[in-house]
Amino acid sequence: MNIVILGPQGSGKGTQTALLAEKYNLAHIETGKILREIANSNHPRSEEIKNIMNNGLLVSDKILEEVMVGAMDNQKDKAGFVFDGTPRNLEQYNLIKKILEERGESLDKVIVVNISEDESIKRLSARRSCSVCGKVYNIITNPSPNGDFCECGGRLFQREDDRPQLIKKRLQTYHEQTSKVIELAKNDGILEEINGERPIEEIFNNIVKSIEIINGKN
Ligand code: AMP
Repeated sequence: MNIVILGPQGSGKGTQTALLAEKYNLAHIETGKILREIANSNHPRSEEIKNIMNNGLLVSDKILEEVMVGAMDNQKDKAGFVFDGTPRNLEQYNLIKKILEERGESLDKVIVVNISEDESIKRLSARRSCSVCGKVYNIITNPSPNGDFCECGGRLFQREDDRPQLIKKRLQTYHEQTSKVIELAKNDGILEEINGERPIEEIFNNIVKSIEIINGKN
């Protein structure tokens, strides 16, 4: 089973994806995370990728394909993939379908977790990550008991692209480009839109219900 999960920045799609990956034994392909790891490594493309990300732009489809196929090839004994952060435009939607077809598989569902722009900005402005272990906090809803430091002792920082000006730019890009993907998934009959301004468990139950329909349980 192969699923795409979409949603504006801060929608909680990362949390929902992790829950889905665990429940259905799916490999979580989170392109933002993979690209951040490459940007912070001594990979030959690290400087190029870091510059693109710090300016709130998208990496090219060529880089994306390379990174996705690499991450997918690394997965073993999984029942499929859940894609988080991709596709962000029509070309990437077709790219995922092509990569899956080449593996004799197909895309089964596109789930969209919707939240308002105000909610997105509020959630992301409060996000802080640990510079040592990568744990993510929210200074309003989930602060570290150690203030500016993580429970592991590492200093917390705000992601360069989580500053309000860049959040607005990323949201604008999301809405401009992803709306076309949503339309296409609707035409393909695999779209499921979900209200993300509810408790995590409620959202997850809603997603599971739509997936059980693919699995023929309903
Ligand atoms: P995210 O954590 O998903 O917001 O991604 C952080 C940054 O990584 C984005 O602003 C882009 O620069 C880059 N990125 C992540 N996923 C993609 C993608 N599917 N296509 C192009 N760039 C991406």
